[in-house]
Amino acid sequence: MSIAGATASADLGKICPLVSRRMNAKYGRDETLAVRVEHVEFGATRPVIIGGPCSAESVEQTLELAHAVKACGADMLRGGAYKPRTSPHDFQGLGLEGLEILREARLQTGLPIVTEVMDPRLVELVGEYADMLQVGSRNMQNYPLLTEVGKFGKPVLLKRGMAASLCEWLGAAEYIAKEGNFQIVLCERGIKAYPSGEYSRFILDLNVIPALQGETFLPVIVDPSHATGISSMVEPASRAALESGCQGLMIEIASERPGAARPKCDAAQAISPTTLQRIVEFAHGRAGQKLESKACAV
Ligand code: PEP
Ligand code: MN
Repeated sequence: MSIAGATASADLGKICPLVSRRMNAKYGRDETLAVRVEHVEFGATRPVIIGGPCSAESVEQTLELAHAVKACGADMLRGGAYKPRTSPHDFQGLGLEGLEILREARLQTGLPIVTEVMDPRLVELVGEYADMLQVGSRNMQNYPLLTEVGKFGKPVLLKRGMAASLCEWLGAAEYIAKEGNFQIVLCERGIKAYPSGEYSRFILDLNVIPALQGETFLPVIVDPSHATGISSMVEPASRAALESGCQGLMIEIASERPGAARPKCDAAQAISPTTLQRIVEFAHGRAGQKLESKACAV
């Protein structure tokens, strides 16, 4: 079976029948499953914008940014309490304290929270605080974790493994769906390819948006922060992702207040609340506009 006319050989109907569009005729050619996180709906005409720090580093930093996200008109707050870091010597996130801070931010702003869970043993704990559980790029193929978040039942943001094929990614979504949890949003976050690191952190794969939409009914969003790694690239990448038909964005921000502490993680890719606001306005301005043709209708 080919993917959208390309020459992929994987038989998605066998690998992921539960999340495959062609195996679930009720979704037709371009209907998207509505994934609800509190009052926010992914897959509706309006793109969902998630903003916030890479990690919740302190009460002051998180509350300041949560209020900024709210003021920009964005829909949800992101922030890591458990951070996957390349070096075990780097800041690992505040853990439980970070979750408590996120809970306070939610209380003050009303923004639903998405935060990462890395350890299957922590799904219950993180799930008590999160409105949506994030499975990060490094854990996309952590099958015991996928099974646990599937069983837990709260909505899941499933990021693409940085070297994962479309087929492997949908196979990961299938593990969650197999437990009866279809509340899954897919998030493209850049892949490793030859020039990775030379001029940007990863390569933003915009082609995968219409390809996924042809193969699955799950909503697709884009993280332009990790995909580029460079703050000046985040706004154009966001616009391009929206023009490619994605159903939302997840973006890292940092305070532009003079004297504000530099983020401990991913400072180079954090944009200001002012830039986030422009992206939100762009996203809302083009809400409801359908692309003329769906490149991947099969
Ligand atoms: C994140 O969104 O906090 C993150 C660590 O991203 P990724 O898993 O895509 O690297
Ligand atoms: Mn980050």
